[in-house]
Amino acid sequence: MDFGFTAEQISFKESIERFALEVIAPRAAAIDESGAFPVDILKAAAGFGLLGVTIPSQRGGAGRDYLSYVLAIEAVARVSATVAVSLVVTNSLVAELIAHAATNAIHEQWLRRLASGEAIGAFALSEPGAGTDAANQQTATADGGAYRIKGRKVWVANAEAASVAVVFASTRPGLRQKGITAFLVPLDGPGLARTSRADSLGVRGLGCMDLDLDIIVGADHVLGAVDEGFPLAMWALQGGRVAIAAQALGIGRAALDQAIAHAKTREQFGKPIATYEAIQWMIADIVTELDAARMLMWKAATMKDRGEPGIIESSMAKLAASEAAHRAADKAMQVLASAGYRRGSVVERLFRDARAAEIYQGTSEAQRMIIAKHLGDLVI
Ligand SMILES: Cc1cc2nc3c(=O)[nH]c(=O)nc-3n(C[C@H](O)[C@H](O)[C@H](O)COP(=O)(O)OP(=O)(O)OC[C@H]3O[C@@H](n4cnc5c(N)ncnc54)[C@H](O)[C@@H]3O)c2cc1C
Repeated sequence: MDFGFTAEQISFKESIERFALEVIAPRAAAIDESGAFPVDILKAAAGFGLLGVTIPSQRGGAGRDYLSYVLAIEAVARVSATVAVSLVVTNSLVAELIAHAATNAIHEQWLRRLASGEAIGAFALSEPGAGTDAANQQTATADGGAYRIKGRKVWVANAEAASVAVVFASTRPGLRQKGITAFLVPLDGPGLARTSRADSLGVRGLGCMDLDLDIIVGADHVLGAVDEGFPLAMWALQGGRVAIAAQALGIGRAALDQAIAHAKTREQFGKPIATYEAIQWMIADIVTELDAARMLMWKAATMKDRGEPGIIESSMAKLAASEAAHRAADKAMQVLASAGYRRGSVVERLFRDARAAEIYQGTSEAQRMIIAKHLGDLVI
């Protein structure tokens, strides 16, 4: 597979690297420390084409391909994993899903706002009893011309500042994935409460909240067809997983940067620790595993650009990248030793941030289940 990047892809990546270094990096530690959602950074990101990245320009988006998008997400995650995953949620799980499945009226109403930063999107699939088993939706609906949606959604990233959410609910109880509908729900209406901001270990500042819903939405707020929302959730998550792979690789890359910088400057036994084979091998393992996962991530993004199914490839990319990032942060911690174990060190933050990528948008076990189920579809 050819990964010869175009001049345009490289120049976009470089512009995002500058934005990440100049605007996001100086705030990354404070976002983690306070857990406050960085709404101003999300809005500033719009000016750099980081919102509505793959949405066509005639709909107000940046009209870029998936490969450009994931290059940008990795660059952002290298300085802030939180900002990167927030961008992934509003881009992949909301704007792309609207562009894929909504009516023209919803396109007109939301895509420009999501691409300009006027609106931020959230994706509400998980429930207290529906995590990995996402088809076990208990949020119920009653149809009477309009839909009454009643239930609780948990761990909704971006919810703190989002104006709109894709909400999944059971329209045919008992039918699991065959009876779930996706609704586009503005978050400023009556009957909706945002509760209990999660005090999470990592990716702090992601604005994760629970949503308590007892709302009425019109049939014109259905995304795609009634009862066909579950495949839409899987479609959105497939793109999201490629982008989460990029996010994980940004974390891993930052861990590599930290390990190399420390190894060159820290002296023990009269020499920089970088001269010791034990340290060199840890760094060699980090770089090898990250690069292998990056190839899978670029392959999955390229397949998305070509309109190929890529279900197994996106799960492989997320699985490999999130586990490689975890090991990279772990090894970087070993290279820095006490300097990394200190609260407030960059490696300590990376160590906590990396862990979440093995959980959200499907755990590593969920990815292995998908890979095993779709083995026959693998494109080699
Ligand atoms: C930081 C963060 C942000 C999130 N953001 C969002 C969001 O924006 N929107 C949203 O809808 N959700 C979100 N989530 C929820 C996330 O998608 C779920 O946490 C995830 O799907 C796992 O569900 P669970 O936590 O209920 O774990 P469970 O499903 O209870 O799983 C517990 C363990 O059992 C394993 N397991 C479960 N079933 C099987 C099986 N059949 N075979 C083998 N192992 C199995 C799991 O892999 C895991 O190890 C977020 C979570 C976090 C931590």
